Amino acid sequence: MRLENRTALITGAGRGIGRAIAELFAREGARVAIADLSHDSASEAAESIRAAGGEAMALVMDVTDEQAVDDGFSQLADQWGGVDIAVANAGVQHIDPVHKLAYADWRKVVDVHLNGAFLVTRAALNQMYAGTGGTMLYMGSVHSLEASPLKSPYVAAKHGMLGLCRAVAKEGAEHGVRSNIICPGFVRTPLVEKQIPEQAKELGISEEEVIRNVMLKNTVDGEFTTVEDIAELAVHLAAFPSAALTGQSIVVSHGWHMQ
Ligand code: NAD
Repeated sequence: MRLENRTALITGAGRGIGRAIAELFAREGARVAIADLSHDSASEAAESIRAAGGEAMALVMDVTDEQAVDDGFSQLADQWGGVDIAVANAGVQHIDPVHKLAYADWRKVVDVHLNGAFLVTRAALNQMYAGTGGTMLYMGSVHSLEASPLKSPYVAAKHGMLGLCRAVAKEGAEHGVRSNIICPGFVRTPLVEKQIPEQAKELGISEEEVIRNVMLKNTVDGEFTTVEDIAELAVHLAAFPSAALTGQSIVVSHGWHMQ
């Protein structure tokens, strides 16, 4: 059990990557708060963790809502005493070239990823600084480090999260807080399933070609990264015993991006 007696809050954990992280954290002994937009998905994920013998609570939290984020962290502190690990994972995608992009769509993507990560960070740090420290984890992307066409707000926001992660590593050190960012390649979650037909339409190619020639083209083996791969890395980073590993971006992408 690598996370025994630890308390974690994971945003966007009702499904996809966040849910896989919550499930593995629970199997490794952590108490996990599943934060998501919808009550149904957060509750369902928390119930399935409890059914498997883990400890979990569901929190309805829109990460772009300052009050909702602060309230969710307060609820966790009331029930469990405070947070040790916070994972800013909630995310959305929008496919459009820059010259056709509506300002509202730009703002929505930046708001969820970057402003949401800030609100989660501030709430988490207040609890970690009052206790014995902790770990911030950010769900970045290969797009924290390089760009692809049609995803400008996502690329910009994910680069911004890398900067936030590094700033938190510098400020958090004296309070015992480490901060790292996970940078996945393509993982076949609902977020990616939705993009396949959208990109096919925008680029005028088949869905199969989007997968083979766009998404997985630069991997070493033509394989998708899995939610289990990401969850394993998240546990490893959360359990790491010292501040030797802080302020780092770890790419997990079947070799798509090598730093
Ligand atoms: P997903 O769509 O399966 O899950 C995203 C979750 O975030 C959903 O449960 C959704 O309800 C929640 N969410 C969206 N907006 C929210 C908000 N305002 N407040 C709270 N929750 C909100 O997507 P996923 O693939 O599991 O993505 C999770 C994270 O991983 C995202 O940050 C994404 O950018 C990142 N990521 C995904 C991939 C990939 O290929 N799937 C690659 C790199 C990075």
